Amino acid sequence: MDLYEHQARGLFEEHGIVVPRAEVTDSPKEAREIARRLGGRVVVKAQVKTGGRGKAGGVKLAADPAAAELTARQILGMDIKGHTVRKVMLAQPVDIDSEFYISYVLDRAAGRFLAIASAEGGMDIEEVAATRPEAVARVHIDPAQGVTSAKATEIAEAAGLPQQTVDVLVRLWEVLTREDAVLVEVNPLVRTAQGQILALDGKVTLDDNARFRQARWGEQNAAHDDPLEAEAAAKGLNYVKLDGEVGIIGNGAGLVMSTLDVVAGCGARPANFLDIGGGASAQIMADGLSVILSDPAVKSVFVNVFGGITACDAVADGIVQALETVRLTKPLVVRLDGNNAVRGRAILDDRAHPLVQQATTMDGAARRAAQLANTS
Ligand code: GDP
Ligand code: MN
Repeated sequence: MDLYEHQARGLFEEHGIVVPRAEVTDSPKEAREIARRLGGRVVVKAQVKTGGRGKAGGVKLAADPAAAELTARQILGMDIKGHTVRKVMLAQPVDIDSEFYISYVLDRAAGRFLAIASAEGGMDIEEVAATRPEAVARVHIDPAQGVTSAKATEIAEAAGLPQQTVDVLVRLWEVLTREDAVLVEVNPLVRTAQGQILALDGKVTLDDNARFRQARWGEQNAAHDDPLEAEAAAKGLNYVKLDGEVGIIGNGAGLVMSTLDVVAGCGARPANFLDIGGGASAQIMADGLSVILSDPAVKSVFVNVFGGITACDAVADGIVQALETVRLTKPLVVRLDGNNAVRGRAILDDRAHPLVQQATTMDGAARRAAQLANTS
């Protein structure tokens, strides 16, 4: 689960990392009041769970409370990479001398954490990383040892960061470990003209496996900013919204992942990930189909099932019953293979729904679903 910037900075503050004074609101009128409280001049920042807000026009300086109201009105409701801005944060502006980048991220392949740091932080860090990788230091951290001051000094020196950042590096590690995060990032971490070190932006991703002990973030803050994902989560479905046109239902995360690849290989883009696991019940099929069909981008749906303990005839029964409650509005391509595949296919043949067609292989079904999506 990702946190909003204002939540991330709250955690930073609790762990002694200095952040500019700031308040959050969803109202332009209140933005004016807040700006007044903060001294007049403020930075108005879109609160969305995506980066690159600065470049998208979601971070703006306002010279006085009236300008803050106007700017907040502009930014609220704005769309940034598919995220609607519902809140803005107003922060005291900072006189920046240098911008740094620091982050810790879980490196699963290495079984370690990885510190990534650069003395050239700010909005162009991706470009710096791509064009001059030597300007970005990468230092592995043994999770059992953590970031001691010695380790923090090593990271700061590798990145060419000033000595004053060592304390922040240690504290940021505490944020990561104490708050059950798998990623913490500060970009920019700045040195002000007065020589103070401040975190001007913050990104924190919490470990979903630790959600039970991070109850304070609440379920409503769960990653479901997308309305379809929220609906799917409410129905207990393992659904992730993607950007394509072919709806996908499969059983088993591995099969669904490869289904996404095969569909992409056929020249279409998957609209979602949906793993129904061992659940072939009519209810799960109906829930899955109704979420997928309410995605306006979907042009065709591909149900890819390999029958195991839950056999194909049970899955076919589930589909037939789901068709009683869900009005199918787009073509459905079904591939049943594995346990009782023949019986399952016969059940669907008997139902003979005009929008349902079957294919016997995964490749064949993917090609068909892709074709239907690309021609409709
Ligand atoms: P992001 O683009 O989503 O990463 O948003 P940031 O919070 O990092 O803001 C983008 C840029 O705005 C930063 O890299 C800073 O250069 C600038 N910025 C943000 N806050 C302040 C501030 O208080 N004072 C000044 N002068 N610049 C700021
Ligand atoms: Mn940033």
